[in-house]
Amino acid sequence: MFNTLNEKLQSVFKKMRGEARITEDNIKEAIRQVKMAMLEADVNYKVVKKFISGVQEKALGEEVLKSLSADQVFIKIVNDELTSILGGEDPSASKITLSSTPPTIIMLVGLQGSGKTTTAGKLAKHFQKNDKRVLMVADDIYRPAAIDQLEVLGKQLGVDVYSDKDNKNAVDIAQKSYEYAKKSAKDIVIIDTAGRLHVNNELMDELFNIKKAVSPDEILFVADAMTGQDAVNVATKFNNDLDISGVILTKLDGDARGGAALSIREVTGKPLKYVGVGEKLDAFEPFYPDRMASRILGMGDVVSLVEMAQDAIEEDEAEKLADKVSKGGMDFNDMLSQFKMIRKMGSFESIMKLMPGMGNMKKADVDEDQIKKIEAIINSMTPRERRYYKLLNGSRKKRIARGSGTSVSDVNKLISQLQQMNKMLKKFKKKYGGADKIDKNM
Ligand code: GDP
Repeated sequence: MFNTLNEKLQSVFKKMRGEARITEDNIKEAIRQVKMAMLEADVNYKVVKKFISGVQEKALGEEVLKSLSADQVFIKIVNDELTSILGGEDPSASKITLSSTPPTIIMLVGLQGSGKTTTAGKLAKHFQKNDKRVLMVADDIYRPAAIDQLEVLGKQLGVDVYSDKDNKNAVDIAQKSYEYAKKSAKDIVIIDTAGRLHVNNELMDELFNIKKAVSPDEILFVADAMTGQDAVNVATKFNNDLDISGVILTKLDGDARGGAALSIREVTGKPLKYVGVGEKLDAFEPFYPDRMASRILGMGDVVSLVEMAQDAIEEDEAEKLADKVSKGGMDFNDMLSQFKMIRKMGSFESIMKLMPGMGNMKKADVDEDQIKKIEAIINSMTPRERRYYKLLNGSRKKRIARGSGTSVSDVNKLISQLQQMNKMLKKFKKKYGGADKIDKNM
């Protein structure tokens, strides 16, 4: 899912990667490309407009952290804006509100073939896992096959199904099923209603009357993600007539573009609550805007990295370091403050995991014990030794090794690491010029 958008956005970010800072010029072009990518992904044009103006505003007003590069900051901005159009960070929005006086009534509505019956089974399974007593109601009176389908699902799950093939009154069935649910102490009633190929008044009247009769706690519009903007238009119609409480998007597994997913919340103002990602009953997930946004971006978890950096790094510190590095080489004091900054952000290993492409780095490369050892060695040096490593002769090295509980060869290794780093930094400086780049790549 979201393959096209994901690829396009990745290439925008990649182009920014060489830039040290967000500037009006580089941001303009990047934003133009993001806009194209969204439109190609079939996102509603009004949503694209709002999204783009949000990104623009944030990007130009952003105080860029010295230790982060333009692409990292931009990814974070796009992520935040995506999260916001997908529903923001309100965790309660994605959940079903359970009634304080059970049973909770959930009415599923939508066009024929959108996946209502399958979703009724998926929801039932979801609640069953949470120890709820569920009743499914076959209220599609026009298609006997739909009733059979729900009964099969019920048997498969061991969930009660209320059906009455002889009753041709959908409102009456809903009312009776409610009475039955109360009598048999169910926690949740899921009503699978009839659909049509297109929206029509007769269907809307019937659904409205069911709503009036049983006052559902949730009216969830089930939308087929593969129908793109059609799903969004139909959702709007259902919302106008029935005042839905949320949306379940099905067949997201088959939707490479993601236009419906990205538009439906913003256009209807109603939260996406669950997504269907396959035909099987467990191919069903609660919807979290932030998780979906980072999935769309497919950027490992740069976003969390930026957040951690924003929390942990004092700009002054980063700036001082970058400045020093750009003037001359690093000394052991600088090395120590680098480690301290990394520490503040969490463990070295956990940070590597968040970096795209570095998640698979061998454990040996980022060994925490190794870092502790290095810190101990540096801490055993005098301030002058930290500044001028060339002072470190044989007897000083021995003293430092003793003081830090390491060996002279460990001390030698660290000295050559510092030399190596300085060599690398010189190369970076030549290539990129700026101090930020060097700082970020430490
Ligand atoms: P209804 O007419 O709205 O009740 O739709 P159904 O539940 O009968 O689903 C229509 C078709 O979509 C069936 O073949 C389902 O297996 C399929 N379907 C439903 N949800 C999903 C989903 O999330 N992913 C995929 N790939 N297929 C789904």
